[in-house]
Amino acid sequence: VRRVGIVGCGQLAQMMAQEARPLGIEFSFLAEGDENTACVDGLGTIVHATEGADIEQLYKAMGSPEVITAEREGVDAGLLRALEAFCPVYPRPDAFEKTQHRLREKTAITAAGLPVSPFLPANNYDEICAAVKQLGYPAFIKSCEHGYDGKNQWRVDSDESLAAIRDEVSELEYVVEKGVNFSREVSLIGARTADGKVVTYPLAENDHYRGTLLVSTAPAPHVDEKLQSTAEEYLSTLMNAWDYVGVLAMECFVTDEGLLINELAPRVHNSGHWTLAGAETSQFANHVRAILGMELGDTHAARPAVMINMLGVDKKPSLQNDGVWLYGKSLRPGRKMGHVILLDDTQEALAAHIDAMLEELYGPSKRPA
Ligand code: ATP
Ligand code: MG
Ligand code: MG
Repeated sequence: VRRVGIVGCGQLAQMMAQEARPLGIEFSFLAEGDENTACVDGLGTIVHATEGADIEQLYKAMGSPEVITAEREGVDAGLLRALEAFCPVYPRPDAFEKTQHRLREKTAITAAGLPVSPFLPANNYDEICAAVKQLGYPAFIKSCEHGYDGKNQWRVDSDESLAAIRDEVSELEYVVEKGVNFSREVSLIGARTADGKVVTYPLAENDHYRGTLLVSTAPAPHVDEKLQSTAEEYLSTLMNAWDYVGVLAMECFVTDEGLLINELAPRVHNSGHWTLAGAETSQFANHVRAILGMELGDTHAARPAVMINMLGVDKKPSLQNDGVWLYGKSLRPGRKMGHVILLDDTQEALAAHIDAMLEELYGPSKRPA
């Protein structure tokens, strides 16, 4: 049998294993620190990486996988580099190093000749103010590291709101970005093999609530072929420049001036969960295929699909739908507990289902608590 090791034990690891096990692939999981392993219980061997553990022993305890991947952007890149002594690690550790740090990430995107919103580095409050002055309002201030689900970032649109964050920022590294006047947010998921084959999915349109993804619709409504092909060109350019292997997700803003890249995630992505029911091959199966050098699966979507996150709710909705995924995590407010996928023949028909599902999940406000 072929064995894949995954660093991380959350729902992304869970879905990779669930989706690739029918291909006859076995999995083992490396838990970092005191990481909870509930999501992957029963899906393979679980090994705990304790501080200072011998890497070769960890690798062997994982059953000596032929390739190792990771499910979390914030994975310890040093650990991945150490594991590389025993088998290929895909995506490569340097892809994690770039995307873990917003300044390095934006610099790498720019170096590949691709567009991002104007940005400036800043290392303290005074430098943040100077950068905001130069870029103008509204601006986004994001810590270079440890930002996800809109955490560790602030939007400022006036001198008052800038003054208000004075005590929240510290002497860390930040990027200050010019606020983008976008009409929509879309994301592109693609997979690349080590020998350079690339597949991409239809763009998804993403709606966030309080910084967290709530709804993804694919193919993105109102997207024309040109936007799709521009996004594909951007993602392929990045993947080829980085000799990237595996699934890479690219979040973009649609503006009157065209597409801007917001950020990248070197892994399967929440905005690609719709592929579990909506595409011929899921992003999870294609990630595993890519890192094993197998032929990539068809990414075609026969019907419009929508994925709705279950944030802080874990009750299976009763409305007719095309699948509910519950990750088996313990309930906490706002936590990603699972997701629902809806399919229909037209975007219009889907829109009505989305509303009804949001109401069933979240009540009359149709928004998470
Ligand atoms: P994720 O959970 O997707 O990893 P994150 O915490 O890494 O999110 P971003 O994706 O950078 O953060 O930003 C979160 C959201 O904030 C974006 O999806 C977008 O809605 C808004 N946003 C971020 N930067 C900008 C910008 N420069 N202009 C306008 N809106 C922005
Ligand atoms: Mg992010
Ligand atoms: Mg984002």
